[in-house]
Amino acid sequence: MTSEPRSSSPNDGRPARSSVRRLVQEIADLVFASVCAGCGAAGTALCASCEAALAPRVVRPRSESVPLRAGLVFDGVAASVLRAVKEDGQTSLIRPLRAALAAAVDDLCAGAASPGRIDVVVPVPSTRAAFRRRGYRVPEILARGIGIPVLRTLSYVRRVQDQRGLGAHERRTNLAGGLVASRLGGGASALIVDDVITTGATCAEAARALRSAGFRVVGAVAVAATLRRG
Ligand SMILES: [Zn+2]
Repeated sequence: MTSEPRSSSPNDGRPARSSVRRLVQEIADLVFASVCAGCGAAGTALCASCEAALAPRVVRPRSESVPLRAGLVFDGVAASVLRAVKEDGQTSLIRPLRAALAAAVDDLCAGAASPGRIDVVVPVPSTRAAFRRRGYRVPEILARGIGIPVLRTLSYVRRVQDQRGLGAHERRTNLAGGLVASRLGGGASALIVDDVITTGATCAEAARALRSAGFRVVGAVAVAATLRRG
């Protein structure tokens, strides 16, 4: 009996360049990440108890413009891991966050208010400065794991201030009219994907831009959302 050699790629036997890059990154993480991103315990990039703390607990932040769902509250372990992904380049930690995002999508699609079919997922764009700083776009990597075609169509029409440190009202003013869709939607249903929902201003602006290009926006999902008081 013979067995054919198996390769990691079904096409030409060579992994795609992006998977090579990912592999290199993950090896780098294994070598350099000697502490848990969640609690700081030595010896692993994410310890078992922090991984367990990332089990989804869906939150539904209030919003007048677009239904919002997140898989986790942005605090504790979830906040630390997301910061490690966004600020420290630990992209291998995106994988343990995927269940939270999937739970947010499932929650949005479940029940009587189900949006029905989703044609495309649209990641919230990163500002040019953020992309330069990181070299990768977290919402886009997250969007690619959902299993629905990804459409990168949103971009900033003007320079917007870094949202960090701005309040809800300032964020809305900062972002108003700041995004534009490069493609026409033609009635296609779109789901917006972001990494963290803070005030919902970014998702609201993304929804506005998509709607004005003719998309039907079914909602916005993120890995985590901050809980607002009041
Ligand atoms: Zn830990």
